[in-house]
Amino acid sequence: MQFAALSSWLPTKNEPLVISGPCGAESPEQLLTTAKQLQELGRVALFRAGVWKPRTRPNAFEGRGEEALKWLAEVKKECGFQITIEVANAHHTELALKYGIDVLWIGARTTVNPFSVQEIADVLKGVDVPVMVKNPIHADLQLWIGGIERIYNSGITKIAAIHRGFHYYGKTKYRNKPMWQIPIELRTQFPDLPIICDPSHISGKKELIPFVAQKALDLGMNGLMIESHYNPSIALSDAEQQLTPKELDKLLSGLIIRQKKTGDAFVLDKLHELRNMIDEIDDELINVIKKRSQAIEQIGTYKKEHNITIFQLERWQEILRTRAQWAEKLGISRLHIERLCQLLHDESIKIQNDVMNK
Ligand code: PEP
Ligand code: MN
Repeated sequence: MQFAALSSWLPTKNEPLVISGPCGAESPEQLLTTAKQLQELGRVALFRAGVWKPRTRPNAFEGRGEEALKWLAEVKKECGFQITIEVANAHHTELALKYGIDVLWIGARTTVNPFSVQEIADVLKGVDVPVMVKNPIHADLQLWIGGIERIYNSGITKIAAIHRGFHYYGKTKYRNKPMWQIPIELRTQFPDLPIICDPSHISGKKELIPFVAQKALDLGMNGLMIESHYNPSIALSDAEQQLTPKELDKLLSGLIIRQKKTGDAFVLDKLHELRNMIDEIDDELINVIKKRSQAIEQIGTYKKEHNITIFQLERWQEILRTRAQWAEKLGISRLHIERLCQLLHDESIKIQNDVMNK
């Protein structure tokens, strides 16, 4: 897949792109008041609002539907924003196109369902409208890529991915755990696919948003989608995570924007030198791992000769405990070393297994 650059479909030269607006379109007044305040900031490129809200339980605020599309047309006229809304089925998509919505997005609850994504893609055949695809609710990169592919196969190249975190059943401070390795893997597989982070749905509460937004930028994400409402306390959905436009302004001002690349020869030179150092260290590391594997082979042979089982629980517990202690003494993260030991141990079992079966 080859994707169009973000700057080819959005009126923004500056990254990060900022998308903002309320979780849900509630009334013409709410939309216009919020949009005007956002417009004054001069840093929002795209105005978002949910017209149909996918709610976990029935009887919650499910959005105003088609009526809200007329209000959004008014926002576009009054404030000059391009507008983006969520579409979850063919009908939504047809209406969005009918009312001239500029950019569509597919929500997390829709990306999980290939039937729904496909019916949206079918409506979009031959239509030139950008589409942003949120990650599915659960941590399944293939399903995320599959959703993007379905849209791409309908002929659209103006596509962005939105990272909004993943449902996590265990204890976590996030509403949706970011699991940053997943968007990183997506970037690795599709380097030209723009990725936008949605810190609002990752955080679930205002206080966490700046931290998540900064992390997203530090990882080189291309934009932020942040929910805002002129008065979040009366919002009909996601009240705890919406910012006032003023709060959004403060948050954006506090972000450190790092350059993806530099043309400064001095900086490049220094970076090159530091990377050489890493190359040497990795070379050493691989040689050490080779030495370790050879020692493991000897242990495997010895165990075979003396008819001893490969896995020795006490030894494994001792390795984990001592290595974590050694790491801590050197100021290295315990967790990091425990993970590394796990990897080494898995390989060690495999090597010994091979020896036993020879
Ligand atoms: C939203 O953006 O308001 C929304 C419903 O998000 P998600 O699909 O990420 O839950
Ligand atoms: Mn929301």
